[in-house]
Amino acid sequence: MAPSLTRETPVYTAFPVINEDLCTHCGKCARFCAFNALISTKRANVVMAELCHDCGGCALVCPSGAISYGRREIGRTGVSGVPGDPDFGDGILHTGEFSAEKIIEAVLEIPSDRPHRIIDAPPGCSCSAVQAAEGADFALIVTEPTPFALSDMKMVVEMLGNLKVPAGVFLNKAGENEGELLAYCESENLPLLEKLPLSRTYGKTIVEGGLLLREYPEAESLFRHLWQLIKGMGDK
Ligand code: SF4
Ligand code: SF4
Repeated sequence: MAPSLTRETPVYTAFPVINEDLCTHCGKCARFCAFNALISTKRANVVMAELCHDCGGCALVCPSGAISYGRREIGRTGVSGVPGDPDFGDGILHTGEFSAEKIIEAVLEIPSDRPHRIIDAPPGCSCSAVQAAEGADFALIVTEPTPFALSDMKMVVEMLGNLKVPAGVFLNKAGENEGELLAYCESENLPLLEKLPLSRTYGKTIVEGGLLLREYPEAESLFRHLWQLIKGMGDK
C-alpha cells in the first residue's frame, strides 16, 4: 500500500540486567524463564535480550534482588493521513528482533475515530497472529487451494475458535483443486465469502507492488462485495 508514514514513535521492551555483586548464581531466574532468555552457571550469567518477553518474572523469583531491567528499542510505529485521523497505522520490527507483540500492541493503540478497523495479521498461529486477532469482531481467513494452506488454515480456525472470533474465508488463487478446502469449510460451518481467481496478470501486478483494486475494475467490485459481507457479519 506504500503509505508515507509520519509521526514515527519508537517501541521499547525491557530486558534483565543482573548485578553480579548481588548475584549468588543460584540459577532460579534461568529455570523460571519460559523463553530461555537467561543462562546462569556457577561462574557466569548470560542474558539474551532478544529472547526476553518482558514478563518481569525473573526479578520476582530472584532471592537476592540482583535483577533490574534495562530498556531497548525494538521497532517503530507510524501513521499516514491527516493528524488526528490516521487512515493507516503501521508497525516495523527492527531487523534481528524476534518478538513483534509489543509492536502490535502499540499499533492497536493508535487512536482512530473510524467506525471500522482492518488489522492485517501475520499468517499462521504465532503469538503475533493471536495478538492481532484477539478481540476482533470478525476474522477473514485468506487461504488458497493447496494441502499446505489447508493444513495451516485448520490451525487458524482452531485458534480463532479458542478466541471466540467468528470467521469467514477468502479463497485466493481459486481455480482448481478446491474440493477438499470447500468440504472442510462446509464441515466447520465457515462461509466462503469471495474468491480471487488464479491469474498470471494479477500475480505480476502484485509482484511489481501494484494494487489490484487500482488496476482491475472487476477486482474493485469483488473487494467492495467482500467488504459489505464482512461488515454485515462483523456487526452481528
Ligand atoms: S523478564 Fe521474563 S522473559 Fe524476560 S528474561 Fe526475565 S523471565 Fe525471561
Ligand atoms: S535468581 Fe538472582 S541470584 Fe539467582 S542466578 Fe538469577 S540473578 Fe543470580
